[in-house]
Amino acid sequence: MSATGLEELQALEQRYLMQTYRRAPVEFVRGEGTLLWDSEGKEYLDFLAGISVCTVGHCHPAVVEAVREQVGRLMHVSNLFYTEPMVRLAERLCGSGLGGRVFLTNSGTEANECAIKIARKHAHARGVENPEIVSFERDFHGRTYGALAATPKMAENEALGPMLPGFRAVPLNDVGALRDAVDESTAAVLIEPIQGESGIYPVSEEALLAARQACDEVGALLILDEIQTGMGRTGSLWAYEQTAVRPDLLTSAKALGGGLPVGACLATAEAGEVLEPGDHGSTFAGGAVASAAALAVLDLVEDPELLRGVREKGAVLREGLLALDGVAEVRGRGLMLGVGLAPELDAAALGEDLLRRGLIVNVPEPSTLRLLPPLTVDSAQIERAVGLIGASLLSYAGR
Ligand code: PLP
Repeated sequence: MSATGLEELQALEQRYLMQTYRRAPVEFVRGEGTLLWDSEGKEYLDFLAGISVCTVGHCHPAVVEAVREQVGRLMHVSNLFYTEPMVRLAERLCGSGLGGRVFLTNSGTEANECAIKIARKHAHARGVENPEIVSFERDFHGRTYGALAATPKMAENEALGPMLPGFRAVPLNDVGALRDAVDESTAAVLIEPIQGESGIYPVSEEALLAARQACDEVGALLILDEIQTGMGRTGSLWAYEQTAVRPDLLTSAKALGGGLPVGACLATAEAGEVLEPGDHGSTFAGGAVASAAALAVLDLVEDPELLRGVREKGAVLREGLLALDGVAEVRGRGLMLGVGLAPELDAAALGEDLLRRGLIVNVPEPSTLRLLPPLTVDSAQIERAVGLIGASLLSYAGR
């Protein structure tokens, strides 16, 4: 139980917080692994994991211990000095695939801002006067102005304008449009390997290869936004590892800190040399506590057994979902799944019903349930979640 009742919390939230979020009427007070408990003591299976943040489960003992140890010793000194967790995290991330260097951030959108800055500076060095960044329609890259401009759907909001110039979008997986859009003025192609926020829509291997090739032809950078797909979510540390394409820049956040705010822009050797003193910075970035948490999360997520488990459990979950009446398709990879519902079904109503039944899912669009359980979810919990979705679909059909 919490000291303040839910109704009072809702009234206070409405009075004091800017009204930018629509929250479900639940107050959570405790989490462990895949489970959450609300202020009434009700238990929930969490198949959203804080939108793919609590990837090693809620309050994993190794992460809690790493944070506890660091927070009691040293919290913050700024980037005017050295701390070991920051440097070790950078070393670890560089070793995870692209070599090169890394810029640490506090969030996903900031990791993308860093990548956009690098791409523009890299293009200017090629003699490009007005560099352009190409993304896919319905991509999501964040809410700060650079990342927002690369998020076509939200960049349409004229009330927030003017938008940053130098961004354009082509339809998802339209290889011809992508090739046409990339020319000498292109600084980068910035895409998610699997679109997350828009409803779990994978980029085809063909489109990924075309993006890589088009960038190589004009000297532009390929930036993969792995903020949602990364950190083991698809069954490899980074989603790109399961493709034939290697990016120049990769952005990470969400699961990287296991619940603490930390992000990173990873770069190849060449792209990692672009930024120079004064070009970029952030007071909190690379903070000792967030870095200690990220190191503990990486220890867990880089375990090949865990990654194999993600692929196996993902296959079981997909199979279970596809067997349910009312499920038209299942998109995605590993434990990043979008459940496409039959057209007569309303995903929002289903999502609310599932929450009442004790299963947390997300509804990114009217026809899709998005499932992003912790990678540590067990078989019994997967079975229970499939059962709950099946029961909800059945009750919906009976209405
Ligand atoms: N990029 C992708 C693919 C995301 O899914 C998100 C968040 O949902 C972001 C960027 C923005 O990250 P943040 O909310 O940490 O700024």
